[in-house]
Amino acid sequence: MSILSRQPLTLARTEYALRTHCPYCAFQCGMILGDGDGRPEQVAGDPHFPVNNGQMCIKGWSSHTLLRHPRRLTKPLIRDKITDEYREADWDEALDLIADKLRTIRAESGANAVGAFGSGALTNEKAYLLGKFARLALGTAHIDYNGRYCMSSAAAGQNRAFGIDRGLPFPVADIERAEVIFLAGANVADTLPPIMQWFERQKKAGGRLIVSDPRRTMTARAADLFLQLTPGTDLALANGMLAVAIEEGLVDKSYVAERTIGFEAIRAIALQYHPARVERLTGIPEAQIRTAARWLATAKSAMILSARGAEQHSKGVDTVHSLINLALALGKVGKSYSGYGCLTGQGNGQGGREHGQKADQLPGYRLIEVDAHRAAVAKVWGVDPNVLPRKGRSAFELLDSLGPDGIRALVVMGSNVAVASPDADRIEKRLKALDFLVVLDAFHNETTAQAHVVLPVYQWAEEEGTLTNLEGRVIRRRVIARPPNGVRGDIDILRDLAARLGVGDKFDFYSPREVFDEFRRATAGGLADYSGITYEKIDANDGVFWPCPARSNVGPDAAPDSSDGEVYDHPGTPRLFADRFYHPDGRAKFFPVEHRAAGEEPDATFPISVVQNWRWS
Ligand code: SF4
Repeated sequence: MSILSRQPLTLARTEYALRTHCPYCAFQCGMILGDGDGRPEQVAGDPHFPVNNGQMCIKGWSSHTLLRHPRRLTKPLIRDKITDEYREADWDEALDLIADKLRTIRAESGANAVGAFGSGALTNEKAYLLGKFARLALGTAHIDYNGRYCMSSAAAGQNRAFGIDRGLPFPVADIERAEVIFLAGANVADTLPPIMQWFERQKKAGGRLIVSDPRRTMTARAADLFLQLTPGTDLALANGMLAVAIEEGLVDKSYVAERTIGFEAIRAIALQYHPARVERLTGIPEAQIRTAARWLATAKSAMILSARGAEQHSKGVDTVHSLINLALALGKVGKSYSGYGCLTGQGNGQGGREHGQKADQLPGYRLIEVDAHRAAVAKVWGVDPNVLPRKGRSAFELLDSLGPDGIRALVVMGSNVAVASPDADRIEKRLKALDFLVVLDAFHNETTAQAHVVLPVYQWAEEEGTLTNLEGRVIRRRVIARPPNGVRGDIDILRDLAARLGVGDKFDFYSPREVFDEFRRATAGGLADYSGITYEKIDANDGVFWPCPARSNVGPDAAPDSSDGEVYDHPGTPRLFADRFYHPDGRAKFFPVEHRAAGEEPDATFPISVVQNWRWS
């Protein structure tokens, strides 16, 4: 449908309204933002966006107020020492200072003495460009982002089991059609309220909902079966359910034989998790464990969905494997309205982990240590593959190495690392040890308090770009607000810094659309292939699911539908795994995993268990 709202009347004082998306979480609710005299005045849920159908949570309803907040930064700020007061500078002075400092530190200590830190809140264009900037303009291996603290356990588990990591391998709307759903560590009624409409429809259609959680949450109250577990025992529960399935002959043997490898290894381990033992570990009565396993196994369609409550543990990846093992053994993954999925957290938590702002990664979910991947991206960037640095330090290790003997200068884009990192006191000390910290942000925060230069940047409704929601649907954020005078966009800043660092020709981008055009070519042939996606296709289809290669369904003689001679007819891939998984042999992999105690158990000094169901950065 049109990007102009069909229903301006819902926004009474509005002169002009556009369809866009909430900036905050990975549900990326469609919203209509009404503009009055260049300032967003009103917001309404977009009833035509097929993910939230007009519903939003309080964060979306209040999102526009931040755009005209009186504490917005509007001038570059600089200081010599972090104990000095900031003084305002003009853009040339600030950018010259940054380029000089970065050059000096590189000359003294090498390129790896400089680092970059990104965010799961950046658009795909910005995440891509920051990755390119780190590798080509800074020449450093050390770039990573705050998504490492979020859904990385699920990403790692899915990559290892399925050969690909897309939060949900099916559209959210499939929830409605699942006979049974098991929500593990996901209090979505509180943290992702618009998704509840799909669970309500599922229940109305006769479906059953199982919820595991240490607390009787709002979501748990909606469940047909609530499994109240001891914190940190999600893995034991999943293994116990698998043991029941094996013991009661509920494993889908033909599916396991045809589509997976490694079942025998997990069978032996699962059988050690007799439900009576699991009852002792988890506190869940054996009968409930058996019921949950039977419901999932005997349903024609069944989903297992996890979130941070089950994933954010010292054994988080193993816990994800235990859930995937269960889904695979029951033959659910890749079947209609079935499978395993992770409910991703940050606004662009999905796209942000695909396109090169991770230490080990290049665009398109390529790996920086794989020569063929390096060559493919280097070709698009017009450089020799040997120019590209190798794998750098991941987020916490990167921040923990800040200081005179490690990374001496850091560029932070879109992340309040002083607060969002684990062991925040320690990270704050590391930030203080930097010779030079540059932060790009719209507001002062705990990280700018440690910076030498702060650059004021556009907010979400002030520039366009694409994001990838929790379903793998690439959507468009649109411009509706005028930024305050004096503020600039991240893309402009990276372009001007790159020019000062001698690689301006590689960053000659004047709009997100120009970045997107190169970015999608850089993903061609990768796992997260966006090469067949255009802004126009996103507009016409309310988003496009990756992978979406260019020129897939046409013969060589098809008429191009773009001035670049390419054909963009691929419809995208709403559902994965129907025919094959993404490992070279096309099969999914089981991983044997065992329950173990939490990294830190409650003791006399710290007697309380802290639990969570979701974390938004
Ligand atoms: S659910 Fe997420 S995307 Fe939707 S309004 Fe709330 S924060 Fe925004």
